[in-house]
Amino acid sequence: MSDIEILKRLYKEYTSKYLKKIIIAVFFTVLLAVSTSSVAYLLDPAIKQLFIEQKHELIYIIPGLIVLAFAIKGSSLYLAKILMIGVSEEVRKDVQIDMFDSLIRADTKVIDGKHSGKFISNLTNDVDMITNLISTVILNLFKDSLTLIGLLSVMFYQNWKLSLIAIIMIPLASFAAKSLGKRMGKVVGQQMIKAGVLNTYLMDLFKNHKLTKVFQKEEYEKRRAAEFISSLKETAKKIAIIFMRASPIMEFLTGIMIAILIFFSAKLVAKGELEVSNFFSFLAAMMLAYQPVRSLASLNIAIQQGLAGAKSVLPIIDIVPEVKDVPNSKELSVEKCQITFANVQFNYDKNEQQILNSVNLDIPGEKMTALVGLSGAGKSTILNLIPRFYNINDGDIKIDNQSIYDCSLRSLRKNISLVSQDTTLFDDTIKNNILYANLDASENEVKEAAKFSFADEFIEKLPNKYETIIGENGIRLSGGEKQRLSIARAILKKSPIILLDEATSSLDAETENKIQKAITFLTKGRTTVVIAHRLSTILNASKIYVIQKGTVIGQGKHDDLLKSSEVYLNFYEKQIRKS
Ligand code: ADP
Repeated sequence: MSDIEILKRLYKEYTSKYLKKIIIAVFFTVLLAVSTSSVAYLLDPAIKQLFIEQKHELIYIIPGLIVLAFAIKGSSLYLAKILMIGVSEEVRKDVQIDMFDSLIRADTKVIDGKHSGKFISNLTNDVDMITNLISTVILNLFKDSLTLIGLLSVMFYQNWKLSLIAIIMIPLASFAAKSLGKRMGKVVGQQMIKAGVLNTYLMDLFKNHKLTKVFQKEEYEKRRAAEFISSLKETAKKIAIIFMRASPIMEFLTGIMIAILIFFSAKLVAKGELEVSNFFSFLAAMMLAYQPVRSLASLNIAIQQGLAGAKSVLPIIDIVPEVKDVPNSKELSVEKCQITFANVQFNYDKNEQQILNSVNLDIPGEKMTALVGLSGAGKSTILNLIPRFYNINDGDIKIDNQSIYDCSLRSLRKNISLVSQDTTLFDDTIKNNILYANLDASENEVKEAAKFSFADEFIEKLPNKYETIIGENGIRLSGGEKQRLSIARAILKKSPIILLDEATSSLDAETENKIQKAITFLTKGRTTVVIAHRLSTILNASKIYVIQKGTVIGQGKHDDLLKSSEVYLNFYEKQIRKS
């Protein structure tokens, strides 16, 4: 997308709806331009009539008018700024909500493909640049160009020859600013990438802080952090320097301009073509024009920054999920929830090797089916395909004889609960973590779910019971407690299909027993697909599939498989028996 297209899009989608406010802000910038110009203009009568002609009747009027002009100047600038800040904050909100909306619907693949720290940096730093583009650029564009026009009018009114000389200098200044703006765009892009990297690094560091401690890598991390921070500092400095470079150039050009003007003015005064009062008014207008010219010259920098921000933000808003409903998708109507995989082919990345090769599964309804196999065999992948976290490449997956690809995602996922081994909890209260399955559930239903998952006994012992905040990903709970909470959540959902990724970590016998009971309650009479690691689970399963390198190499009951599948026997000897 070209820069112009980006600006057009930002205007159309985010700014145009605040046009009314912007127009009012522009009206105030007109007042600002008029009042600033009148200050310069008023110097002419002030000098001429008060000092030269000494008209005493004006001794209150002219200073009074100057005070009034300044008062209007100050308040109109204030009002214009307030309005534009309001608009830009609205735009920030809209952009962030759109980004969020897009990310929450984005494919698992997209979310997995980028570190969450980068998304956070996109949502904050990059959006900041866009907000600045809207507040600063729109405001300054009108404020400075109108003020400049006003002041130029005063200058021409006072003396056109001097004005022409002054005007010749302006393109010089804008030329300098343009080249600075280009360089700025590059550096700002680097800055944003670096900020994203720092975010990512910090998030990892906090997540793995125990690792840092036990491997005693504090000094190493300090050095790494210092490197990131220093490199960020370097670019920040570069940006500031490029930004400030406009300043000495402008000062120098202004100096030359004033010198040349004084030279010519002296000649014009000598020839009688210019009065002293005109000259001072002209000079004041020119000096006042310095700020708007400077600000307009650096506008390009803010535009470049905003464009760089928009270039990382808009593609996120534009993410089109691959996993979506087909047109006229049907509602999945469930009976027994029998799940079949027919010749399923799948890989995570189109260019990479096949992860699942012609997988055929016939998962009976209302019973438990176990998937076993070595790590990396493809068991989690199979589980992830059922709620359509990913689309398959070929083949079909059916529930009660309806292809899940013909059904709406909503109706599909409504019928599925996921209890994964990396129990995922929110930094919220116990109650809200369970309620996540069904926000409309009553307090009693939550308590009942907790009871059947054996979570109530530890919840009751917590200081605030169901209102206890559990910390980031349940940091304040033990592994077994977290698992029971996630089972409670699944119990509350009451879905007919349960996908269970059994925890590999072993717990004490008592906790283990409770979790087993909770799972038995949860999965009773439901279609359950479990990635099994424990013998008890496997023995409970009505069917076992042995997965190896993305294909099914055996199926049946435990006893049959022990006889018929060497791989299973090996697996059983190595993996299961010891647990
Ligand atoms: P299992 O659950 O049997 O241990 P997985 O289904 O997790 O096996 O993994 C099967 C294969 O898919 C592995 O080779 C793994 O590297 C790959 N894989 C798993 N998840 C992803 C992912 N998100 N992106 C790319 N490859 C993946």
